[in-house]
Amino acid sequence: MPVVNIFWFRRDLRLNDNAGLYHALKAGFPVLPLFIFDTNILEKLEDKTDARVSFIHETLRALKSALNELGSDIMVAYGHPEAVWSTLLESYQVNAVFTNHDYEPYAIQRDQGIANLLHGKNITFHTFKDQVIFEKLEVCKDDGTPYTVFTPYARKWKAKLLSKLVDDSAVPANNPLASFYLQPYPTTNYLSGLLKTTQNFAFPSLESMGFRATHLSFPDKNVTRGTIKNYGEKRDFPAIQGTSKLGIHFRFGTISIREKARHSIGLSEVFLNELIWRDFYAMILANFPYVATRSFRSKYDGIEWRNEESDFQKWCEGKTGYPIVDAGMRELNATGYMHNRVRMITASFLTKHLLINWQWGEAYFAAKLLDFDLASNNGGWQWAAGCGTDAAPYFRVFNPSAQQEKFDKQGHYIRQWVPEYGTPAYPAPMVDHAFARKRCLQVYKASLETP
Ligand code: FAD
Repeated sequence: MPVVNIFWFRRDLRLNDNAGLYHALKAGFPVLPLFIFDTNILEKLEDKTDARVSFIHETLRALKSALNELGSDIMVAYGHPEAVWSTLLESYQVNAVFTNHDYEPYAIQRDQGIANLLHGKNITFHTFKDQVIFEKLEVCKDDGTPYTVFTPYARKWKAKLLSKLVDDSAVPANNPLASFYLQPYPTTNYLSGLLKTTQNFAFPSLESMGFRATHLSFPDKNVTRGTIKNYGEKRDFPAIQGTSKLGIHFRFGTISIREKARHSIGLSEVFLNELIWRDFYAMILANFPYVATRSFRSKYDGIEWRNEESDFQKWCEGKTGYPIVDAGMRELNATGYMHNRVRMITASFLTKHLLINWQWGEAYFAAKLLDFDLASNNGGWQWAAGCGTDAAPYFRVFNPSAQQEKFDKQGHYIRQWVPEYGTPAYPAPMVDHAFARKRCLQVYKASLETP
């Protein structure tokens, strides 16, 4: 049996600038790349044309071709991770396993199980930071505890970036581009360290795993300099292509976060700030994993939600009678994407106007968003419901009509997704804004003031 090191791909589906893969390739033994289609995750997906599964499948096919050209291959397995690993360890003599950190509660538990299995066989399990710039407690308060408010966190994040500059004569001193934390891992220089294979591994079809290909298309990962440069002025208007649509690529690691952070420096401070939000929510989930199932501020778990099923249905289908809300929900249902401004409006409407538990909306977005990410989705929903880390008081209730007037004044976005708007076929608002606002404030106040 050949002695190998294994690199386990998860949400880092690329060969270049990949921390764990880089370390694996430098460790001395031939590296066998592995991906597991995890039945624990797949079995929970109701939609058998789930576009995220298609995206992973397509990406793995491209990775496989690239590896085949290098005389290597990727083993793509389908099953429960522990079972897959047990079988694998019977076929290979494994020296060590390398992978990148995953901060979601299920992933942490899964990785612990695999670490135990490997340690039991004297195989080391090396894991690396890759999907964020700063993780867990790397950016923390002076007393070593995690930040729970974004602004001071972002300030410290930026200071830390500059705290460790590398000697790079190509960039001026004190320039964040020379930051140690943004340097790429030159994985591609070491690809000769891959295990050479004469016979390629089988590649499971979507159908063999119970899925079918999606009809949705995926956003391009090549974003123009102009998009990033103009991001600050354009990002709030859903009718225009003013944002990067890179969410799915960050989610599955088809691009490197270090690379995109480097690209945005000097071009758009606002864009970099959004990447810091991403780190912030990943940090919150890592340090306060209970947020995955409860409010960050526990008092908000006592809110007496109305949870009216028929109201929820209208919201899901984009039939609330509030055009900006309906446009957003229909965009989501049709494309797997929703503009950030509209995510905030639709989430606020569900939680505040309809008084439906934010976790219903969170779950709906989780099922539909191509860029679904537990940490950012949870953070976004808790922000909208007012129960999260944000310091803003719960009485911020977005007025959907005012938001529409401000961010889609000409109605281009609305007409794209709600063609019957302005005709008798379009429903009247399902609830009056002033009434809903008052009701929301009363319910929140009553719940929060209960001792
Ligand atoms: P851009 O505006 O181009 O931003 C670039 C990248 O920065 C994004 O791809 C994302 O990785 C990151 N980013 C931007 N805004 C945020 C933010 N507010 N919080 C965290 N990261 C951010 N983002 C997700 O990646 N996955 C989710 O499941 C998700 N769910 C959300 C749910 C709600 C209720 C809200 C209000 C926001 C949610 N967001 C989520 C954040 C944000 O809406 C999306 O990241 C953004 O709209 C994705 O579009 P884009 O790739 O064009 O982003």
